[in-house]
Amino acid sequence: MQHSVNTVFDKIISGDIPVEPVFENDDVLAFNDMNPQAPVHVLVIPKKRSSRFSELSSKPVEETGRFFAAVSAAASSLGLDSPGYRIVVNNGSDGGQEVEYLHAHILGGRQLKWPPG
Ligand code: 5GP
Repeated sequence: MQHSVNTVFDKIISGDIPVEPVFENDDVLAFNDMNPQAPVHVLVIPKKRSSRFSELSSKPVEETGRFFAAVSAAASSLGLDSPGYRIVVNNGSDGGQEVEYLHAHILGGRQLKWPPG
């Protein structure tokens, strides 16, 4: 059953909010974060909606695999394989998730610190 929520990322997928894709395939759309935390800060969202990472354990594993393969391909296409990068998926309130539509952050272009805040 389709969720009734209509987040900003639902509107990006439906085309109601236009974005400039930096990477796209059958499974995902990737675009620059509007509030970048690193020189490269790209969001990758699945075309088939999930609300959260924690939902993935009940989804077909093939779907999850294609999502993460696409995140990897997007990072490669951005030239980040050699210098390195970080993938972040915030989940729920303690995780700092603001948009209830599954998304992976690709962060790169500078030395990232650990641990995160
Ligand atoms: P979260 O905290 O949910 O993991 O991350 C949501 C991210 O989406 C934030 O980094 C925020 O800057 C970004 N964001 C929220 N609304 C928009 C938007 O309308 N366009 C773009 N490009 N990024 C957005």
